[in-house]
Amino acid sequence: MTLHIPFDNSYARLPDAFYTAQNPTQVSEPSLIAFNDVLATELRISRDSDADLASTFSGNTVPDGAAPLAQLYAGHQFGNYNPQLGDGRAVLLGEVVNTQGQRCDIQLKGSGPTPYSRMGDGRAWLGPVLREYIVSEAMHAMGIPTTRALAAVKTGEPVYRESVLPGAVLTRVASSHIRVGTFQVFAHRGQTKELKELTEYTIARHYPDADGPMGLLRAVVAAQAKLIPKWMSVGFIHGVMNTDNCTISGETIDYGPCAFLDTYQPDKVFSSIDQMGRYAFGNQPRIAVWNMAQFATALIQQMHDQDAAIAEATKIVHAMPDQIEAHWLAEFGHKIGLQNASVEDLPLIEDLLARMAAHQADFTNTFRALHTGTARDQFTDPTAFDAWDKTWTARLSAENDADARMASTNPVLIPRNHQIEHLIQAALADDLKPFFDMLDAVQNPFSRDVAHHNLTVAPLSNEVVPATFCGT
Ligand code: AMP
Ligand code: MG
Repeated sequence: MTLHIPFDNSYARLPDAFYTAQNPTQVSEPSLIAFNDVLATELRISRDSDADLASTFSGNTVPDGAAPLAQLYAGHQFGNYNPQLGDGRAVLLGEVVNTQGQRCDIQLKGSGPTPYSRMGDGRAWLGPVLREYIVSEAMHAMGIPTTRALAAVKTGEPVYRESVLPGAVLTRVASSHIRVGTFQVFAHRGQTKELKELTEYTIARHYPDADGPMGLLRAVVAAQAKLIPKWMSVGFIHGVMNTDNCTISGETIDYGPCAFLDTYQPDKVFSSIDQMGRYAFGNQPRIAVWNMAQFATALIQQMHDQDAAIAEATKIVHAMPDQIEAHWLAEFGHKIGLQNASVEDLPLIEDLLARMAAHQADFTNTFRALHTGTARDQFTDPTAFDAWDKTWTARLSAENDADARMASTNPVLIPRNHQIEHLIQAALADDLKPFFDMLDAVQNPFSRDVAHHNLTVAPLSNEVVPATFCGT
């Protein structure tokens, strides 16, 4: 073994109440699918043979210095509190401090059962592993805070879902896996000592300038208020914004039934289990605020003066919609070429979106075509665009560098749902070329010279993926 990972495991140094020590479960025949060399270098991990990488990132060999553990957390799932979730199919191998001095978790996902598995098998199948690999790397390339993908390995073992499927393990990197639900579990159990300890640990790790629990709340609200408009700016729908899938760092986490908009539909829902549309595209800001209200509720448990804390937390959470709106305006302003969109520009942006919705315009391709002058072709009735175009052109006369701004904020391609389905089907037939083609393409989402032009094409009506399923 020559693989070296410079572990420094701070979470494992926290008391036992925070996790259960847990090794990954060995698999029969690990084989490497993909390894992220660029990320590995940033993490100061030395490259190794494919066989050794497969052995480590399947969980068969626990590397020196690792302290594998399953983290405890709880969370609201679709609005209902679940008092105990936890890593049911993941183990944190440990942490490294990367070349930029930032502490990062290295976690195996799909690595076998843990005390938190409940009825689950602790495993993942190939499809969701490839999906998370691609989508998280695409989000990163588009400048959106996210967990990263370090490795994907096939286990050589079957996983039983609606059918028998090949098992796989994803190695994911995050600036931490601390969630709103991590705070909730201690608050709801009345474990104030642990809640305080988690608060201190989180402040030191993520927001060293934050002043106490309310300072932490303010910082996390700010991070989440920035994140959600970024998702929306690329048509991303997370799909399961439960509080256990809401990070304290402000990184996107848990790419389960996530999807990107093809045509713009503000009320779009993909996830088949989201029957009420709770996590619909346009509802994401409201849910982020709701999640922060749960975070505030958990944090307050440790405060001396409850009434004062409630008043302060309420103020912080109530300020969040305006913060989201301001970031949304900035993001969408950039998308139409405006450097500093103001509230007076809001009707212009909303008018475009309304016309896109009414005329089945493709979200990605319409914005991308704005500065090349072909956006009207995206509308079922192109004259619907022409009317907007006049007002927009007049507004743009006050802007410098609008074209460059649009080119650097409107991606040429996103990992489209039908293409992801296609690459998963190909991978099931042992053809990984579509996976690597897309992985290659999403690395440069704003580049005009797209290597794989077919990936920029919107789905034909018979290719549209109507729903995503949670059988992950
Ligand atoms: P998720 O919806 O993926 O965020 O997961 C919600 C909870 O279910 C977490 O506690 C997961 O660890 C757990 N979970 C999801 N899938 C499995 C599985 N196959 N085996 C065990 N636990 C699982
Ligand atoms: Mg989760």
